[in-house]
Amino acid sequence: MDKIKIDSPISVLSGVGPARKKALASLGLHTVRDLLFYFPRAYEDRGKISLLREGLDGERRSYILTVGTEPKNALIRKGMTLTKFRAFDESGTVEIVFFNQPYLREVFRPGKEFRFFGKLQEVKRIYQLSSPAYEEVAEGKELKPYIPVYPLTEGVSRNLLDKLASEALNAILPILPDPLPDEIRTRQKLCRLSHALRGVHEPTDHTVLETALRRLIFDDFFVFSLSLALRKERDKTETAKRLPYTDISPLTSLLPYELTNAQKRSVNEILSDMQKGNGASELTVPMSRILIGDVGSGKTVCAAIALYATVKAGHQAVLMAPTEILARQHFSDISDLFKKLNIRVELLLGSTTEKNKKRIYEAVSRTDKERIDLLIGTHALLNDKMDFSDLALVVTDEQHRFGVLQRAALQEKGKGCHLLVMSATPIPRTLALTLYGDIDVSKIDEMPPGRQRVDTFVVDESYRSRLNAFIQKEVAGGGQVYIVCPSVDDDLEDGEIAFNELLEYETKRPAMKSAVRFAETLQKDYFPNLRIAFLHGKMKPKEKDAVMKSFSEGKIDVLVSTTVIEVGVNVPNASLMIVENAERFGLAQLHQLRGRVGRGTRKSYCILVSDSEGELAKSRLSVMKTTYDGFTIAEKDLALRGPGDFFSDNRSEFRQSGGLSLPLAHLCTDDNLMKAAFSEAAALAKTDPTLSHPENALLKTEVEHLLQNSEHTFS
Ligand code: ADP
Ligand code: MG
Repeated sequence: MDKIKIDSPISVLSGVGPARKKALASLGLHTVRDLLFYFPRAYEDRGKISLLREGLDGERRSYILTVGTEPKNALIRKGMTLTKFRAFDESGTVEIVFFNQPYLREVFRPGKEFRFFGKLQEVKRIYQLSSPAYEEVAEGKELKPYIPVYPLTEGVSRNLLDKLASEALNAILPILPDPLPDEIRTRQKLCRLSHALRGVHEPTDHTVLETALRRLIFDDFFVFSLSLALRKERDKTETAKRLPYTDISPLTSLLPYELTNAQKRSVNEILSDMQKGNGASELTVPMSRILIGDVGSGKTVCAAIALYATVKAGHQAVLMAPTEILARQHFSDISDLFKKLNIRVELLLGSTTEKNKKRIYEAVSRTDKERIDLLIGTHALLNDKMDFSDLALVVTDEQHRFGVLQRAALQEKGKGCHLLVMSATPIPRTLALTLYGDIDVSKIDEMPPGRQRVDTFVVDESYRSRLNAFIQKEVAGGGQVYIVCPSVDDDLEDGEIAFNELLEYETKRPAMKSAVRFAETLQKDYFPNLRIAFLHGKMKPKEKDAVMKSFSEGKIDVLVSTTVIEVGVNVPNASLMIVENAERFGLAQLHQLRGRVGRGTRKSYCILVSDSEGELAKSRLSVMKTTYDGFTIAEKDLALRGPGDFFSDNRSEFRQSGGLSLPLAHLCTDDNLMKAAFSEAAALAKTDPTLSHPENALLKTEVEHLLQNSEHTFS
């Protein structure tokens, strides 16, 4: 048998043939390393033992039971066997059944003790457990309190993953070298990598998981920061086209409004980045700037001015959005304006016909008057077929994502281009400094005049009927309503604890609403007269776009959704935002959601529904009632919850968004941990800027791995 190494293909593990290899690959699992870094999405809480008499509440629970009768096998249908026996604890007796596993007769010997995990039912006044999970209780064998639950897919069963993970852990951990220099590890009081991996896959308690995560989160930030530093080193020699001074008044005079002072300042910063330098030279240092401003603060027009100045100087520019729907919106906003200025603008989406794509590919590569000046589209736009004849500026609208590494990869594709990123996440200053280092930041910290405030309320379940009446009233008055539910554990089963929740010490959280079920209940029981639709992350982009489109056309009254609408469109008619289980959201996220309403002339409201009793949750939510400025909210959130929220506290959505560059960072609640990682990385980059010291060889591999992956997301 082959020796199992960390970078071996996953097929070295027992039982992985071509079919399984393919199924595993669809989960992103190609190597043994991928498997070790494939983290549970939840844990089954098997540590809490119940008595049979407490178990009839429909939840999956653990019981410690003694086998009481000899198991009997019966043939119930053609080829179907049933194994049946009784077991008991001090509170009662239960009948346990398994199907098609006749050999279990030899396992469940009378007198033996097992821990069973399953849903207790009552059948003809007898307790029954059907196909429960089981482990023998034996001397010297520890039962784990938490059993990991991994995200699965067709062809990859839970048993398979358990088996592979444990084989990989056992083979690799004893020989796993630690890429983090010992000196840093001890200074930061971190456990070894092998220890951390064991702890996250097989935590024995809170503390073990926390210790493990501390190390893994540190590594995330550390490697990430190091890769930024190294790339910066590499890019020092880059150049981009220098723009001459450009009169932007032909564009600004077409606008129906005056730019705010914050917009003027940002525009100046952007233009002078692209114009700076020696008057005789046609080249300059590429701009690398992020434009941050609350939703609705008017970033688009600033970007449009930069695009205009570039095109006016005779070069090409692109504008990219994270979704087709946003790309379309940018196109309709900008092309009207630019057409009046005789600038050729085109839209390119994944859904654009092949014929049109071909035409556009050809037209961007031209050098004559038929050339496309400005191309708008999704991130897929910078693919290999695209061959601009004279691209000088890339603008990307990433809304509220931190695709810092993607940004670096982008720069690779748009080599020799200026780069401007628009972000709607108000980032606290400290975080911006650590995250972006010396990437320049322009802030639009002022709203266009006349914007109305979205009145915000925090209510609990006892307000439900008043809330429903309010929804009816808004719709009757011609308004539209958003209802947002958290989606993180939609698919959690009873008895499972979400990965990040093991870390929470706050009061037990209130029950969760699932968007899909909630939408059904609302439609059936409360609003049979309204047009209700739902939107969630697992829908295909096309389906999502279609729902958003009918909502924005006013064909839907109430849109129930997960946070997918955050990266949403402008629906000026929406006047009520309701957030269910509001305690689950970061403040920055709530602020984004609130920004979805109050975009038109209609008086708008945001209602945060939460039954949480926790003090922290309460004080966080009350910030929303009194604070309307995104940057202030962000500062308060950072102080209350740590940096994790800024990487999204919504794992599954974030994964799908493709903006993930730091797999665990969203779990970080400790500001200092992140800062420590960044400062250690900065120090190391200084002493060994190319990571060529032999003791840093492993780190170098990690960094390269990360950079490679971030580039893949763009191809
Ligand atoms: P965001 O920063 O969220 O991308 P947009 O650029 O979409 O915001 O701008 C939101 C709205 O505000 C748009 O309808 C835009 O026309 C308008 N707007 C932008 N700047 C101003 C301004 N200075 N005065 C008035 N309205 C403005
Ligand atoms: Mg925008």
